[in-house]
Amino acid sequence: MDALPRLDTADFAALELFITGPTYIRPEVKRAATLPEFGHRDAEAAKRFDPIFMHLRTVAGLPPDSAIQPAILNGSGTNAMECAVRSLVNDDETILAVTMGAFGALFHKLAQVNGKRVVELAFAPGETVAMDRLAAALKEHTPALVLLTHNETSTGVTSDIAQGVALAHEHGALAAVDGVSLFGGVALEMASINPDFYATATQKCLALPAGFGIAFVGPDAAAKAERVERRGYITDLLAHLEKAAKGQTLTTPNTALANQLAVQLDHIVHEEGVANRAARHLAMRDMVAEFVATLEGFDRLAPAAFASPSLTAVQAPAGASVADLKALKETMRAKGFLFDPGYGKLNTALEREHKRPIFRIGHMGDVQPAMLERYLEALRPALQALATTAASRS
Ligand SMILES: *Cc1c(COP(=O)(O)O)cnc(C)c1O
Repeated sequence: MDALPRLDTADFAALELFITGPTYIRPEVKRAATLPEFGHRDAEAAKRFDPIFMHLRTVAGLPPDSAIQPAILNGSGTNAMECAVRSLVNDDETILAVTMGAFGALFHKLAQVNGKRVVELAFAPGETVAMDRLAAALKEHTPALVLLTHNETSTGVTSDIAQGVALAHEHGALAAVDGVSLFGGVALEMASINPDFYATATQKCLALPAGFGIAFVGPDAAAKAERVERRGYITDLLAHLEKAAKGQTLTTPNTALANQLAVQLDHIVHEEGVANRAARHLAMRDMVAEFVATLEGFDRLAPAAFASPSLTAVQAPAGASVADLKALKETMRAKGFLFDPGYGKLNTALEREHKRPIFRIGHMGDVQPAMLERYLEALRPALQALATTAASRS
């Protein structure tokens, strides 16, 4: 009779996540998921979403009079990014996709699969955007929209987004920024960066479960969307803005996540403080930099000036393989941690080119320095063993 085994949730391992998203969730945020469900067009919704919309502006560094407006989309960061490529350019216009790794490549692909005309300006993994090359590409292609990655999660490289956006504007283009893995972990000053579109999500530096994409939309983007045809339904920026203006979402939101988002943003703004949260991320970036410097044979991939506050990609010693990093992941699992053995496609390519594979250390969201310190100390002997194995091979 009982051919189908019952689910055993006791078998779900409670690992501490040091991957680059989703990230560790605080007990208070977990409990917030059990707050009352509500009707999303009912007065109860406003008790969650009014503070959510207000605090999103605060976390973004937007003054009350800024014309940049947040919208909340069901799905995840990618949904917000697809909304940008779909709503901000017509099919006979050009998109310039500026890429420096896997997530820039994702933004590029979203433009392609939506039938848009797109040219790519690519920088090698570990490099940031060279502004002279961006200026030249803008001159050559006269795009209507430029896609930029604020924080390339596959390599741990940030870019000077204010400069990139300013260059796009100088050349008459709108700028859409993927800030998925940075928003909530830095003091953003979005008002002075002035992007036309800025996308993020809940499961990275905001330290919540995944489930919402968040888009910040400037007035020029909203005006442009009025002139773009076939924006779709779920990807129609104007439809999202219309609901956001009423403090709502276009389609039914995950009410448990909405409760969690409200509680978490209240914590970030009123308890921890945005500036303190940003300082904590920078301190953890520096902790990891010092840790890597003490390890023989390991190097950080990103140049120090462009090192991400939310994650660090580390080059393994020469002779180490992708398989070694996957084995290391299991070593760390046995110690109660989830280790990130590098972005899959990037490591496959590096190995093929006989280059050193990378692994990543996520230090974002609600990870505290003391937690990171325990993780690094657990990681140290495993990395030393990896270096010994690698040395014996080369
Ligand atoms: C995680 C991530 C994404 C994808 O976001 P989802 O929320 O998984 O859709 C896009 N860009 C960057 C930089 C990311 O880190």
